[in-house]
Amino acid sequence: MTQHQSRQRDVLIIGGGQAGLAVGYFLRRSGLSFSILDGEDGPGGAWTHAWSSLTLFSPAQWSSLPGWPMPAGDHVYPQREEVVAYLSQYEERYQLPVERPVQVTAVHSTPDHLSVETDRGEWTARAVVSATGTWRAPFIPDYPDQALFGGTQLHSADYKDPQNFAGQRVLIVGGGNSGAQILAEVSKVAKAIWVTLREPTFLADDVDGRVLFARATAKWEALQGGGAAAPVGGLGDVVMIPAVKEARARGILTSVRPFVRFTASGVVWEDGTESHVDAVIWCTGFAPALEHLRPLNIVGSDGRVVVAATRSVAEPRLWLVGYGDWTGFASATLIGVTRSARETAREIEVELGSQ
Ligand code: FAD
Repeated sequence: MTQHQSRQRDVLIIGGGQAGLAVGYFLRRSGLSFSILDGEDGPGGAWTHAWSSLTLFSPAQWSSLPGWPMPAGDHVYPQREEVVAYLSQYEERYQLPVERPVQVTAVHSTPDHLSVETDRGEWTARAVVSATGTWRAPFIPDYPDQALFGGTQLHSADYKDPQNFAGQRVLIVGGGNSGAQILAEVSKVAKAIWVTLREPTFLADDVDGRVLFARATAKWEALQGGGAAAPVGGLGDVVMIPAVKEARARGILTSVRPFVRFTASGVVWEDGTESHVDAVIWCTGFAPALEHLRPLNIVGSDGRVVVAATRSVAEPRLWLVGYGDWTGFASATLIGVTRSARETAREIEVELGSQ
């Protein structure tokens, strides 16, 4: 068998994080040949890059992929290394065919297949699932004179340890779970100022990811049924995990509205006053990591692809899983990705089976 033949698959899944593994779980029984091409050196997807104290906002059994509930560990809310261990064991448990490290650089359309270009040569497939997540596409907003600022700037995707900021004046920009969790620990070693576009929304102490998910499911079902949906709080609202509760007890969970511009040594606020700043940690979210799809000319100006459920409208041999609500309700969460992964695998099986 030539190398070209050995790299022909019915389905190629790009990305071996939680979303790619969930699709693989459902494809196992389809009889279709498939591989998961993943750019990391080891299992765990984005979780391998997150800061060590990153904590899930749902308990283990509410953060599970299909087939195997995440084992309860030492913490009610699992921490990063528990999630990485779970994803690693999940791959083994279901013998998922992950090839890594493989960097997919481009997907090209040809009349009878999709060509997937990688740093280890080409694969071809009848169907491709993009499950590349967002971690590789951190979003940092533009602020006037940002290039002037001589201090440190880094995105939460690159944040590792609060000690790097000890004794400094640090701006934490962003009002979601990343911002709250990083503020909680940096404020213990540095003068931390929390900058948010609007007042952050804190969920009640007894509301965590499972309640959020149940409420958001009710909202989603109401919308599916054409009904109006009461506001329930989004997955971006701050879950009061223990570290964030502790920060509240220290009176830390107060934020200010954004500065108007940078200076060489700090920022200028709305009222014209200036502050010296040593570092800015941007907890300002992520965009879908879709660079590899550019050759297909289907990535819009919003950085997304027009999909029907998870299937690309313009390139019907391509599916997208795990990018958040636009590819399936709560699909960017461990518990939420199952539904869209199952539907995607089923649709591919029907599509390829009918050819
Ligand atoms: P990823 O985990 O990013 O995996 C994508 C994989 O694709 C990676 O291995 C990457 O290397 C690979 N890849 C990317 N591009 C290429 C390429 N071109 N070629 C080859 N491989 C490629 N979710 C929850 O369920 N519960 C939580 O409590 C929770 N808390 C969170 C807290 C924070 C602060 C953040 C930032 C996120 C949180 N999330 C939570 C969301 C969750 O971490 C991500 O949504 C999840 O990692 C997405 O999984 P994924 O498989 O879609 O992408």
